[in-house]
Amino acid sequence: MQLQRVRDTAPELNLRRELHRRGLRYRLDRQVVPGTRRRVDITFAAAKVAVLVDGCFWHGCPLHGVQVPKANQQFWVDKIATNQARDADTDVRLAEDGWLVIRVWEHEDPVVAAERITVEVRGRRPA
Ligand SMILES: [Zn+2]
Repeated sequence: MQLQRVRDTAPELNLRRELHRRGLRYRLDRQVVPGTRRRVDITFAAAKVAVLVDGCFWHGCPLHGVQVPKANQQFWVDKIATNQARDADTDVRLAEDGWLVIRVWEHEDPVVAAERITVEVRGRRPA
C-alpha cells in the first residue's frame, strides 16, 4: 500500500475509458485546488467539473473502508480520518473557486459514474 494518491489505477482507467467513449475530453492530474498543490484526477475546464476517484481504503469508503488492519489499528484510523478531512477541505476550496466536485468511489460501476459525470459536464458547459 502506498501513502500517496495512486495514479492510473484500474478504477480510474475504466472511468476514463467510459468518459472518452461518451465524447468527453478532459485533463488529468491537474493542480487546481486553490492554495494547495493537491491534484485532481480528472478535470473538465470549460464546465469546471472536478472528478476525484477515491480509493475505498484510503478515503474511508462506508462500504469497504472500515476494514483497517489489526496491526497499528489506531495509526490507520487516524490516517484515514486525516485523508477524509483533507478531502472535505479540497471540496470546499474547489467549490469556492466555482468547481463542481464529483467524487467516485473505486468500487462504483464506471458506466454509472460516467453517466453521472456526463450529465453534469453537458449541463454546465458554457453556451
Ligand atoms: Zn468502497
